Amino acid sequence: MNKSASELQIYGFLPLSYSNGPGCRAVVWVQGCTLNCPGCFNPESHAFRGGQTVAILDLLHQISALQSSIQGVTISGGEPLQQITGVTALLRELKAETDLSVLLFTGYTWDEVHRLDVGDPRRVRRTRRPSFEEKRRSPTVNGEPSGGSPKFLRYVDILLAGRFQRNLRVARGLLGSANKEIHFLTDRYGPADLESVPEAELVMSPSGEILSTGIDPCFWEKR
Ligand code: SF4
Repeated sequence: MNKSASELQIYGFLPLSYSNGPGCRAVVWVQGCTLNCPGCFNPESHAFRGGQTVAILDLLHQISALQSSIQGVTISGGEPLQQITGVTALLRELKAETDLSVLLFTGYTWDEVHRLDVGDPRRVRRTRRPSFEEKRRSPTVNGEPSGGSPKFLRYVDILLAGRFQRNLRVARGLLGSANKEIHFLTDRYGPADLESVPEAELVMSPSGEILSTGIDPCFWEKR
């Protein structure tokens, strides 16, 4: 579902988290995903009619108000790129208004990210594969995605790409499974920054509800 550039359908928002990327970060879980990875930890986030609709400006104001407490924003899901118009608008404003870093999880591979149909991002085009030269240059050239890359990539510092594969599960260093690709799109972070991220954390909401989050939300059940 591709909502307008002024709103997003979200599954959740966490203002302060230490287990969803380097340092303390705000987390936006986008609602809706059609990729159906077996063993997905977040099936409640799959339905496009669930969650809540938020105005991107409201979300931007909430995140901007946290600037002194966080070093960045993590966009997760659900599948963020199935609302690519709204996500791109949010990230563009965030980068214009703040110095916060951006980490984005997607179930699409790097190759699929370049073939998404922006008009219906549940579809991946069969044509238009990035050239060898684009693939070689895209992740690293002066921290800028090369020509032909989707716009949202210019606002992202770290992209974690690819389906969750249950048989390759690792659940550490922000990798749910070993097949996931890590793309450092700027020089702001490197591998050591991801390795030091805790696998999980427990967060208590103002109403007393306990939320378990991170790349291994069942961390405590195994102990
Ligand atoms: S892409 Fe993410 S949210 Fe969607 S099914 Fe796979 S693991 Fe779950």
